[in-house]
Amino acid sequence: MPEFASQLLQMYQNTPDSLSLTIKGPAEARMSEKLEGFRLKQVKKGVCKAESYEKTVPLFAIGLHLDLPESGSVQGSHDWYTEGKSVPTYFSASFSNIGGMIKEKPATGGSGVNYTISWNIGEDVNQPWEDPDDDCEKISNKIKWVNKVLETYKDETLRDWARKFHGDGRKGMSEYQKEVEREVSEAFPDTKGNPAGIHSEFQTNPNCTTDDCGAGENAPVIGGIIDGESFSIMEFDSDGDLVSADDDLMNYFRGQNDGFDGIMDHEKQHVDDLTSMGYPKSIDEWAEFEIRGFKQELEHYKRQLMEKDCEPVF
Ligand SMILES: [Zn+2]
Repeated sequence: MPEFASQLLQMYQNTPDSLSLTIKGPAEARMSEKLEGFRLKQVKKGVCKAESYEKTVPLFAIGLHLDLPESGSVQGSHDWYTEGKSVPTYFSASFSNIGGMIKEKPATGGSGVNYTISWNIGEDVNQPWEDPDDDCEKISNKIKWVNKVLETYKDETLRDWARKFHGDGRKGMSEYQKEVEREVSEAFPDTKGNPAGIHSEFQTNPNCTTDDCGAGENAPVIGGIIDGESFSIMEFDSDGDLVSADDDLMNYFRGQNDGFDGIMDHEKQHVDDLTSMGYPKSIDEWAEFEIRGFKQELEHYKRQLMEKDCEPVF
């Protein structure tokens, strides 16, 4: 964890007077926090209802407020032990005023886990946490992937195939989506050679999920999936204006997925479309809906590539 602190300080352009560091993870004491979630439940054929519920997530939190001296550095450490075999899945660290975080993967197996965090903040921190070339490669790979996704959604023969065999309604749209995912994941298998899903851990849910929902009829929610359950990351009103956002959850997902902010740009485009145009009603509308989302995501990664002075990707 010292790399985390130094990295964040490097990101900070202006030298701050003080920093607050918060570490959250599962605790020995099993302090728990209730997260508001929602799930979609089918009440009868073709009609879904969004249902609110709460889930208790074990959290451990320590907050450190560090005053930075004019010269010199701030150092320290803190450790704790947690009993039990279950592997913690919710663990985040964040600095005030900085959106970054890192997730430390806890050890698996054994009967307990030891955590140590240490920090070393100052001008002379000599632990670069990541090779910048690695960053460039990661972003470039995301761009290549999104380009393949866009190309697949633009493929007219795929749309024709789905319409011909499954019709131009909900069934056609869902079979079409599966076929797009199959093609993309065959081109980009995951590290184990398995087909990789398209953003399966994030979703934009309209409160109304049938295709008769028109513009202004739903207040979308961007959700993220933890252990199969969806939690609200951002909620919007029926004009598409942000009503609430969960910063802790955002930090959590940022640590899980380094494409998180790009994916949020994608999902926010869906929010705009759902509130201004309503739910897609045909295969063409579905494809264009996704194309608009992925274009936003692509722009995000291209901006990242430029900010990090990486070689451009076409
Ligand atoms: Zn999408």
